Amino acid sequence: MLTLDRKDDTRPIIDAQLAAGGGRIVELDGDADWREASTEIVGAVRVDIRFPKFNDGRGFSLATQLRERAGYAGKLRAVGDLIPDQAQHLIRVGFDDVDPDRKGLEADWARARTRFAHAYQPGRGNVTPLFRHRHKRPEDDLAALNARYRDMTPQEILRDAIENKWVGKIAIMSSFGAEAAVGLHMIAQIDPATPVIFLDTGRLFAQTEQYQRQLTDQLGLTNLRLLTPDADAVAEEDNDERLWRRDPDACCTLRKVRPLDGIIGDYDALITGRKRFHGGGRMALPVVERINGRIRVNPLANWDAAAIEGYFQRFDLPRHPLTDMGYASIGCWTCTAPVQGNGDIRSGRWIGQSKTECGIHSPAQNAAEHVAAE
Ligand code: SF4
Repeated sequence: MLTLDRKDDTRPIIDAQLAAGGGRIVELDGDADWREASTEIVGAVRVDIRFPKFNDGRGFSLATQLRERAGYAGKLRAVGDLIPDQAQHLIRVGFDDVDPDRKGLEADWARARTRFAHAYQPGRGNVTPLFRHRHKRPEDDLAALNARYRDMTPQEILRDAIENKWVGKIAIMSSFGAEAAVGLHMIAQIDPATPVIFLDTGRLFAQTEQYQRQLTDQLGLTNLRLLTPDADAVAEEDNDERLWRRDPDACCTLRKVRPLDGIIGDYDALITGRKRFHGGGRMALPVVERINGRIRVNPLANWDAAAIEGYFQRFDLPRHPLTDMGYASIGCWTCTAPVQGNGDIRSGRWIGQSKTECGIHSPAQNAAEHVAAE
């Protein structure tokens, strides 16, 4: 395996997770359909694309589509019949490393990857292909947005997003969970009238509801948008109130995804509080991504637990009452438990199940059509 030169500060984190035996790896043939692949790679921290022959360029196209249209930000590895002359093109379309079938050419690969200063084909990261210098529309381009926010603080990202980029068309989603106060406090300093979307599933802890009221009042947030599941749908689909146990995905769809879908057209962009250190599929979280055709801004993606704790202390923010009892990530009472031992921050969610996310940050089944229609 040979490392290419593409710069990205998430790589050491992903490498550490893979070395520890964690993280999902997806293998794709170079001729895979990118729309189908964009669904398959959700939650993956590394995607391997296979090149069957060195003169078969479909793997380059697939990589470009995953980076630029699907917003994939994890690790991308090229495997198969590749030659050193292809190093620059691999970098330009967003590969991080290459595992070529032909061995013994390490010196040639090292020379090839530093030979050119400009890119002529679509790429990712700091590389802007020449033909786009004149025609580029940064406001439509995920790579440009991520480059724009690369060195900004979360507060700077939020200010730009709220006051410049998506004025009047942006909201923050908040669970009013263990870390929610940080992002909400930042929002309150910029514009306390920013809509705050709160999904009340009907299964929340009483402490969460109390914390929501306390935090909203204390921070002076003036535009809380409370979403609840459709009562008729709940009566029909969860009449025994056990759907969370029988089919938690269906329950999250009923109580979270569909209520959010009902208002999502009101906004061009939604802010989330997700962070890479939460692990799992979040390890590869970009600052800006596109889900089902809508922008998600994750200003705290780069922050770790220490940074969050430091912010709480600096501004003396109130804590969720359940954090003292060992709850590190807080959702519905039916599906949330305290973290045991050295478990990771989200290990108390959906214990004993493969489920790790509720679905509001995942592409819908017809995501490909949404992306294609943009
Ligand atoms: S977290 Fe559990 S109770 Fe809450 S909506 Fe999802 S499955 Fe249902």
